[in-house]
Amino acid sequence: MNTRLALTLVAATFILPSVARGGQIANIGAFLSQCPDRDPAYAQIVHDFELRRDGLPVSEAPCTEPTGAMAIAQYSDTLIVRQGLRVIYYMDRGQSGHLPWTSGTLYDWMKSKIGGINIVTGGGSSCCVQFGGKTFINVGSENDSNRDFDRTWPGIAGNIDLYAHETRHVDGFPHTSCCGITNGCDNTFDTANLSPYGVQWWLNHLWLTGGIDVGYECEVPAAVSAATNWFLSSVNDQFRTRFCANLPAVQTLPATPGGACPPQPRRRSARH
Ligand SMILES: [Zn+2]
Repeated sequence: MNTRLALTLVAATFILPSVARGGQIANIGAFLSQCPDRDPAYAQIVHDFELRRDGLPVSEAPCTEPTGAMAIAQYSDTLIVRQGLRVIYYMDRGQSGHLPWTSGTLYDWMKSKIGGINIVTGGGSSCCVQFGGKTFINVGSENDSNRDFDRTWPGIAGNIDLYAHETRHVDGFPHTSCCGITNGCDNTFDTANLSPYGVQWWLNHLWLTGGIDVGYECEVPAAVSAATNWFLSSVNDQFRTRFCANLPAVQTLPATPGGACPPQPRRRSARH
């Protein structure tokens, strides 16, 4: 093979049609149909977040595209965590001021707080454990039906806000039972000092309104309405009821849920 052809093939390997110029995700459905290990940011993500299962380093799971055609047994917990980290890497790149608890992106904040994610077989999520001098959040393994759901944007988004919740516990924020859920409540929704459930509400609100735009509005209509309903329900039902004081306002359907399709070029700074 001549050098020119070889270089062309290498370049073709690293073109991701679902990632627009500037690293913005243009269509999350197309993005999630691709394998994490084909992503140009894969080495960086593997370096920044170590993955373990039950405390032991994972071997990277084989992945074939489109991921939606993989047998569910092959779409493993490891692949799902990698997909989530991939979305985190791209979803708000270049934005600042959109997350009240940090000045930059979710990826950079998580990287500053944890060194990895530990998948617990048959367990649940929690913060935190130490392996090799690094802080890990724990996340539970998932059954076939939940892993199948994680081929979709709502499934991956639900994982991402859970990772953010557990990462927020690195800074403390023990739960209370004041909202009627045993150890499942936070005292107040304070945007100046968002608690773990507050962080989850905030991310879902940004995804719903397009404050973080991953192009879900460019998917087929059934996927768009499924995602919009998921995010609306997350902010109004699932997370709003986790507080005992100063509950966030009930949200109505935005005019353009998820943002405009195609996603508008990202502003350098999105302070609000
Ligand atoms: Zn918690």
